[in-house]
Formats: sequence, structure tokens, C-alpha cells
Amino acid sequence: MSEFDLIQRHFTRATRHTNLSVGDDAALISVANGMELAISADMLIAGTHFFHDAAPYDIGWKALAVNISDMAAMGAQAKWATLAIALPEANHHWLTEFSKGFFACADQFNVDLIGGDTTRGPLAISVQIMGEVPINQALKRSGAKSNDDIWVSGQLGSAALGLAHLQDKAKIPQKILLSCLNALNMPMPRSTLGLGLRGIATGCIDISDGLLADLGHILKASGCGAILNLEEIPCVEYLKTHLHDKSMQKLVLTGGDDYELCFTAPESKLEQINALGKQLNLPITRIGKIHTDIGLQVNYKGDSIQFLKQGFDHFA
Ligand code: ADP
Ligand code: MG
Repeated sequence: MSEFDLIQRHFTRATRHTNLSVGDDAALISVANGMELAISADMLIAGTHFFHDAAPYDIGWKALAVNISDMAAMGAQAKWATLAIALPEANHHWLTEFSKGFFACADQFNVDLIGGDTTRGPLAISVQIMGEVPINQALKRSGAKSNDDIWVSGQLGSAALGLAHLQDKAKIPQKILLSCLNALNMPMPRSTLGLGLRGIATGCIDISDGLLADLGHILKASGCGAILNLEEIPCVEYLKTHLHDKSMQKLVLTGGDDYELCFTAPESKLEQINALGKQLNLPITRIGKIHTDIGLQVNYKGDSIQFLKQGFDHFA
């Protein structure tokens, strides 16, 4: 099978909001009046971001989902994606499953795959995502203000717990194993929450590298500090009941791959945020406050706790 047959068979689908899609030298899109184009890319490397023998469906889903999560964190509506993929071989079963997972995510979040590149090489996947956001309404990292509340969606630490299990670093109860592996393998980007936070959040980020690291980016960009209360951070019951254990604290505070949103907002937005959570049927929890003092302090049972690493860093 030629490269072009492969692209035709596995990566060419009908599109919803694209003028010219896969098949020409470039794709063509129109950005609606009054909108800015939000653009981001995320790469997944076999052995670094997923195990070589991971289910191809999950890899396909996650490759797109983590990119849509970046659009959510900007308050942008994801619309278009490109896919650059290096494959060791043209394995039909693998490609069929990969594209099934990729397009399941694309369909759920209404994203068109509009182009890409396909080469032979060690398995690596790079997705670029593009979305629309009304001019000047994007949720940046830089707007957090002193006394803002700090919020987080969903639950933290589940993906890291699933990963710890796969790496034989944690033994977790059977009854939560599936949900933790699901959190790790098939993250759910908080797209509608991101859109709903336009005009509410002063700073926003998606948690890919761990809460402390990613909240740290908001603090740095906004030039402020924060105090968090570990007991208030939402996590599965198993983690809640083991929070005295330093390694469990680490999963909740520095574990990556949750793809929940962390955002800041003035106290006056509290009711609107709670209403948004109800409407989306998604827990949104207040976990701390922004302070002017530089630094990020985490309290547990009244004492401040320290961490050597705040999250995942490819080069640290
Ligand atoms: P070119 O030689 O001009 O770089 P390619 O042969 O790389 O073109 O690709 C042919 C067409 O298929 C282009 O429209 C490109 O965007 C698209 N394409 C290539 N690989 C992928 C892929 N993995 N997913 C989606 N579209 C792809
Ligand atoms: Mg090319």
C-alpha cells in the first residue's frame, strides 16, 4: 500500500467546517468575523508519552484530546487539526484502531482533520490544533489577581495513579483501577467548561504536567503567589483517605495527565461558577486563593508542605 492509499484510507473523512481538506498541498479554512485563530501543538512519542504496546485506539483518542484540552484552556472552540505521524511500518490493524480513536474524539468535539504528514520512522505523533475565540476574550495565564479564588475541574491524581499502577509503583484497589486507567488513556478535554469561563476566569490552564507545575505557570505569568489547601483538592476517595501518605500527596499535587482545567476568578464570580458546574454536571472545586506574595504554598492540616518537584519536566 502506498503512502497515499494509507492517507486516503485512514486519515480522510468528510469535514464540517473546512473549505479544502486532505488531498491538496494545503488546507483552506475561513475564520469567522470577530474571531481570533487559536493555535497549539502537542507531540506524543512512543516510550515517553505512552507505552509502545498501548492500545492504538487510546493513542489516537489521546493525541487529539490533549490538543483540544489546550483550546479549552484558552476558552477557544477547537475546529481544525493536522496530524503528522511517523510510523515504523504500515500496520493496518494498528492504523485502523488509531484512526478510530482519533476520529471518535474528533466527532465528539466537532473537529475536522484537515491535513498532515505521514513518514516512516520511530512511532511519533504530532497534532496541531486550531480553534476560534472572540477577539480579546481568550483565557490567558496572565490575568490572575490578588484575592482571586483558585478553582479546579473534575478530580486530580487519577491518571497518575493509573500510571503508577502500570509502572508497578502503586497497588491500587481493583474497583478504581478501570477509572484510573481510563483517566490516563482517554482524557476528556473540558471543552464546554473552557467556553463557559469566557468573561469569568482571570487566568486559566489545563493540567497536563501536574497541578503545582501548571498553576505555577499562571502565578509566574500573573506575577503573584498562592495558598492551596491539600484537603480541598478533589480526588478519588482512595487518594482522599491516603492523603497523609507523602507519595499520595505527590500524585494529587504533581501527577500529570489529568487534563482538568485550573483557573482563577474573583470572588464575585462564585455563584456563576457553581451554576456552570451544575449545568455541565461537572464538579468544579475551590482549592485556594491567589496572594500577592511570590511563592506557592500548600497547606495540609494547618502546616505547609514542601515538594522537590512541582510536576513533570522533560529536561529537568
Ligand atoms: P506534500 O507532498 O505536498 O507534502 P503529502 O504527500 O505529505 O503532501 O500529503 C498529501 C495530502 O495528505 C496533504 O493534503 C496532507 O495534508 C495530507 N496528509 C498527509 N498525511 C496526513 C495525515 N497523517 N493525516 C491527515 N492528512 C494527511
Ligand atoms: Mg508532506
